[in-house]
This record gives sequence, structure tokens and C-alpha cells, in this order.
Amino acid sequence: MKKILFNMTDAELAQFVENMGLPRFRAKQIREWLNRGAPDFSVMKNLPEKLRDDLNANAQTLPLRVVKELESSDGQTTKFLLELGDGEQIECVLMRTSYGNSVCVSSQAGCAMGCKFCASTLLGLKRNLTVNEIYAQILVAQWELRNDKLSDKPIRPNGDANNGDVSHIVIMGTGEPLQNVENVIGFIERANSDMGIGWRKITVSTCGIVPGIHELTRWGRPINLAISLHAPTDELRSKIMPINNKYHLQDVLDAAFEFSGLHNRQLMIEYILLAVRGENGEPELLNCTPEYAEKLSELLRGQNCMVNLIPWNAVDERDFVSPSGNAVHRFQDILIKNGVHTRIRRERGNDIGSACGQLRLKHKK
Ligand code: SAH
Repeated sequence: MKKILFNMTDAELAQFVENMGLPRFRAKQIREWLNRGAPDFSVMKNLPEKLRDDLNANAQTLPLRVVKELESSDGQTTKFLLELGDGEQIECVLMRTSYGNSVCVSSQAGCAMGCKFCASTLLGLKRNLTVNEIYAQILVAQWELRNDKLSDKPIRPNGDANNGDVSHIVIMGTGEPLQNVENVIGFIERANSDMGIGWRKITVSTCGIVPGIHELTRWGRPINLAISLHAPTDELRSKIMPINNKYHLQDVLDAAFEFSGLHNRQLMIEYILLAVRGENGEPELLNCTPEYAEKLSELLRGQNCMVNLIPWNAVDERDFVSPSGNAVHRFQDILIKNGVHTRIRRERGNDIGSACGQLRLKHKK
């Protein structure tokens, strides 16, 4: 296996450079390129060509490499399929939006949670990602953004001074971040200190691991928390999200509101709208009937939260269908009538299989 220079400490990199019989300042030059996310050594134009070739033959820059890159038809969303040092694959997504450049990163290779609507969990959990492996995902996105700048591609609709930099991070890719909480916290600390990304521009999304939420509370940084709720009763939630058998809905919400209340932040509630195919072929609403809208309102009324209603991204292996637009609006209207903040999340990159784990799954098959 090739040596991964990004994983080396400064002392180790200096030793590596010395072993190659090179002057010391090369270590510093290489480190600067690594920090910028250089995908390989060929781009390091201040190194002699022979050295770049030698390095490419013996070493790797980042702990992951891009194996596939897909761009949505509007050019605003790019999805990367990435391969780790041990051959495991993960995904990350770059979204260029009016408020900034947001990157969705994975926290695990695969997922153990078993949610019935999700593609990420179909092949089970392989392993946790390291801090470097999570951090390298934003470097991949950052590198891409810098290349946007060099091309004549329109970058951001509002084009402000931060054009070309990652400004927001959502830990919503493959995996359950609170099953890998130590490395996720390490990653966030690093994104904050090394990339200058504010706590408030970072969001962790969880299916509801209560001890993990408590750990975030003890850690005490004012990041955003999103809870993947998807059902307003224990009975229904346990059917679509097995984790609910372990951590019940009300306990998850209590822990989550404790966290968001501590920092006076709005709690994000993720709610996928699911239907099943009825006997006559028409979609039959599963978690988004008017009755469930009333139940959800009861749970959340008066709390500082925002419900994101998410159209389900179809996964071939899963038996759900998406409800009609009318049903979605009826569901939303009931929440609004009850004073619960809600919005319908715009689908991004649907044409490139941007939902959790879709790309990785296709590739594995
Ligand atoms: N494990 C974490 C983070 C990863 S999933 C969590 O559960 O929050 C990120 C979000 O995408 C979750 O809200 C998840 O429920 C949702 N999701 C998974 N599969 C989806 C699909 N096919 N369509 C739409 N959203 C999906």
C-alpha cells in the first residue's frame, strides 16, 4: 500500500523527505499542497518533475481518492464517489447555493442503522472513518471549488467574496455520525480551526442516538443538530427505523431540545414523506396522513424547531413511493396551522442519485 502523506505528522513528513535524499524545505512545500487538498503530486508545480513522478509512484497525497465525479444538470451539485486506503468507498456531495458552498460528508463506510427507506445501510456497516478521512472530504470539495474559479463556469448565484470556499458542512452523508462521535467531534474542531468554518455553519444529523446527543451537549459547541424523525409515534417510527426500539422518540426529542436549547439554536427535524403502493396501484400515505400531521404538531408545538419535509429519493431496493404533491402540501398546511415552522426541502442533484448511499450502492453492485 502506498504511503499516505496527509496522515503524517510534520516530523514524519520531514523524515520521509530526508529518506528520499531531499532538502528539508520540500517537506514544507508538500505540506502546503496537502493542506489545500492536492489530489496527487502532478499538480505540485513547484517540485521538479522527476520528483513529482517519484512521489506519484511511491506515495499518495490524501487518505482517499476520487473514483467518480457526477455533476447535476444545473451544474450546482457535484457528487463524489471516493475510495479509501483499504478500498472501502464513501460519498460526499458539494452543493453550490445562494448562501454559500455546502459539503455533505460521510462519517462511516456503510451504516448499521437499518432504516427501511435508506440505501446507505443495505450493505451494513464496514467501519468508522478517521478524522483525516472525514476532513479530506471537504478538501476534495475545496479543490473542486478552486478549479471552478479557474474555469469560466458560473459559480454562485450571488457571487460574494467567499466564492470558491467551503462555507457550510453537513454531516449527513453515509453513516451515523453519533456512532463515531469522537472522530466526528475531532473533525468539526479541525474544520473550525484549520478552515475557519463557524460552529453555526456546521450541522450534525442523527437518527437519534441519545448518549451521543448527550456527548455533544457536554462538548458544548454551538453547532446545529438535525434529528431524522420521520414518524411522530413510537409504533410507526420503530417500523421504519429500528434504532427507535432502543432510543424512544420522546427521549430522543428531550435530549435534542436540551442540546439546541443550551445554545438557543433552532432544532432541525428531518421528516421524509413516505407512501406505499396500495392495492389499486395508487400511493397510500404511510407517515404523512393528516392524522400524523396532527400528532407531529402535538409533539413539536411551542418548541424552537424547523421541520424539513423531504421528498423521498427513490431507492430501487426499497418498496416505498413518494406521495403526491397535494398530500405533501396538505401535511405541511396542518403543521403551519398548528404553529409549527416547516418547509419543503428542495431536491438537489436528484438526477445524479444524491440521496444517502445511492452512488456507493450502485458502484458496489
Ligand atoms: N445517520 C444520520 C445521517 C445520514 S442520513 C441520520 O439518520 O440523520 C441523512 C438524512 O437523509 C437522514 O434524514 C435520512 O433519513 C435521509 N435519507 C436517507 N435515505 C433517504 C432517501 N432515500 N430519500 C430522502 N432522504 C433520505
